[in-house]
Amino acid sequence: MADVHSSETRSFNMSQIRSQNTKPELLIRKNLFSNGFRYRLHKKELPGKPDIVLNKYKTVIFVNGCFWHGHDNCRYFKMPSTRTEWWAAKINRTKERDVDSIKKLKKERWHVIVIYECQLKNEKLNKTIDRVIKQLNKWRIKTEIGNDG
Ligand SMILES: [Zn+2]
Repeated sequence: MADVHSSETRSFNMSQIRSQNTKPELLIRKNLFSNGFRYRLHKKELPGKPDIVLNKYKTVIFVNGCFWHGHDNCRYFKMPSTRTEWWAAKINRTKERDVDSIKKLKKERWHVIVIYECQLKNEKLNKTIDRVIKQLNKWRIKTEIGNDG
């Protein structure tokens, strides 16, 4: 099949290809791990195949690329100027799928945290990690009966 993209568009698209084990996700995992959190990855049986699953906290985390997930009001999300309609449709489908997965997860009583790539950049990283950890500690399932207050 002929490649109709200009090389400029193509390199843009290639730079946006994100799948599993992307850098932002590794960043979150590394930080959670060093703070004592243990998790599982990409549980396929859960809606939306969450990137990180913390059973002890009944929490799943999605780490979303700003482009693919059409992050609103984000400077890293810019609709491509070529094949705009095609991209808009594709990104909208992803967003709809996200909403749907979260709805299903919540129905199964999972807590859901969604982190966007831009929230992990430079000076924002620590703040985001702190926020996630605070939230996780709130959601921690207490299994022991006793004197921890
Ligand atoms: Zn963003």
